[in-house]
Amino acid sequence: MSTIYSPNKYEGRISPIRVIVLHTMETDEDGSVAEAVGNYFAKPTTQASAHLGVDTDSTCRYVDDNDTAWAAPGANADGLQLEMAGRAGQTTGQWDDASSQAILTRGAIEVANWCAAYKIPASYLTDAQLADGKTKGITTHVQVSRVFKRSTHWDPGPNFPVNFFLTLVHANLPATPPTPAKPKYPAKPFVAQLTVDGILGVRTIARWQQILHTPVDGVISRPSLLIRASSAASRSPRTASPVRSPSPPCSGGSTPERSRCPRSTRSCPTPRPSSASLPRLPARSSRPPRTARREAAPSPAPSGWSRCSPVW
Ligand SMILES: [Zn+2]
Repeated sequence: MSTIYSPNKYEGRISPIRVIVLHTMETDEDGSVAEAVGNYFAKPTTQASAHLGVDTDSTCRYVDDNDTAWAAPGANADGLQLEMAGRAGQTTGQWDDASSQAILTRGAIEVANWCAAYKIPASYLTDAQLADGKTKGITTHVQVSRVFKRSTHWDPGPNFPVNFFLTLVHANLPATPPTPAKPKYPAKPFVAQLTVDGILGVRTIARWQQILHTPVDGVISRPSLLIRASSAASRSPRTASPVRSPSPPCSGGSTPERSRCPRSTRSCPTPRPSSASLPRLPARSSRPPRTARREAAPSPAPSGWSRCSPVW
């Protein structure tokens, strides 16, 4: 396995690892793709990543398991993200060719290792199970999009051989589970994690922004969406479960590059019209902020680009 680390991640996790998310890279299926996508993820401007990528002859590590990759909004916080060379638009026959079979086998080996290391059942989640925030299992980007409605990506596509892939995973479950990555932020009451660099330190503010589901940039602007969200949260029981509450839309922030993702730049699966209107931040009032450039509502993505950004 080669390693091309991506800076596009959150250090550590705010949730225990729960799901494995399957993706296609929207690329050709050759032996250079995992590295090429790694080089793409390595650019800070990409603002997207995954934990592992596989192609016909190689496996590449982009983000450590105990860090949060930016791949599938709604399942970033508790997800392990696997990118497979290939396209969501592949036909059943194309998934059956030698290249796809090699990629599926490589991917299944990694999924099997994850299942064993993190005690994740080698089975697919139902929509209800994915939504419940606690059932462990395997999912796909399209299911994450459908359940959490923060992305329009539909990879790995309707013809992805789900049953065959699961058979491969079961066949490759290791007799001795690999050692799981040591959690950087072990599960504990979130209050204990709040003050990390002073009452108004950047990391403290960023942590509050994560909990309150506002764009995370560590900066309080005026008028502050964070403060308004905090006020709203104090009036709402919703903040009682900061980890499992719905995240903000896959918007990331106001800077254009934060809305881009690699699948978007490579003939990304066409966003579905029904998902075009993203939900608003829960605490955003109907009146737009007067200033607050960093927290302004994101402008529409350029044509052909869909949003896949650093949100939980
Ligand atoms: Zn995807």
